[in-house]
Amino acid sequence: MKERPRIEPSKITDDLYWVGVNAAAPSHLLVTDDGLVLIDSGSTNTIDGLIENITSLGFDVHDVKHIIHSHAHYDHVGATNKIVAISGAKTYGSAQDADSYRGKNKILWCLHTPPENENEFYFEPDVLINDGDVLEIGGRRMRFLVTPGHTEGVLSMFYPVHYKGKEYIAGSFGGAGYNSLKEEYLDHFSLPYSLREDYIISTERLMRERVDVHIGNHPGNNRHGDKAARLTADYNPFVEENTWQSFLVAQRNGLIERYNLDFPIIEE
Ligand SMILES: [Zn+2]
Repeated sequence: MKERPRIEPSKITDDLYWVGVNAAAPSHLLVTDDGLVLIDSGSTNTIDGLIENITSLGFDVHDVKHIIHSHAHYDHVGATNKIVAISGAKTYGSAQDADSYRGKNKILWCLHTPPENENEFYFEPDVLINDGDVLEIGGRRMRFLVTPGHTEGVLSMFYPVHYKGKEYIAGSFGGAGYNSLKEEYLDHFSLPYSLREDYIISTERLMRERVDVHIGNHPGNNRHGDKAARLTADYNPFVEENTWQSFLVAQRNGLIERYNLDFPIIEE
């Protein structure tokens, strides 16, 4: 769990912000008429930075009403219990990852040694989400697909966002990294190697989704830093340059090649 340089939060649409604190941080903040929705609370060592980022955008962490988790790894759950203690936010996670949120088998920590205060980070999700669920969260209709691979219960999500008076569908693949599909990782946690095939099938399902605004589960997924740097009052790369399909194709093909999986390569 290495320390990375701090970077500033940035706007994506009029109601969606990336509030991660470094180049690897996953957190997003959706601003609704019914309070704030935090998507992934970030790493266990970036709690204060996350709260500072929310504050620096002019929002109040007391208004975080919902925290949705894309998957049960330490870099997505770090500030959850602290924010729940401050604001009473309701927590969400996939049913398939629930045991990991609860601390079972220490999957949350990936292959890192858990910190001494590991129990402070475990939680019981208030709402367990299943594949295909549609929930009204903060007044937004949010749709979820369980897309296993990176974990057994990766939660991908789709929801309306707004920019200059228009509505768009934002979407994210809830877990795109290959790190948890390595032999060392799967063997350590006694996870099935079929998660690699699951990953391929998940990307194929996701390619069929309409997404106007590609949201990264980590900023590298949607080239967040590059787009944020080019955002002006007149041009919004997040809305204008959709990287959803090409990202999924590249991730899918990359895993097939890495593990020589029995799936055809798709042309980009
Ligand atoms: Zn992860």
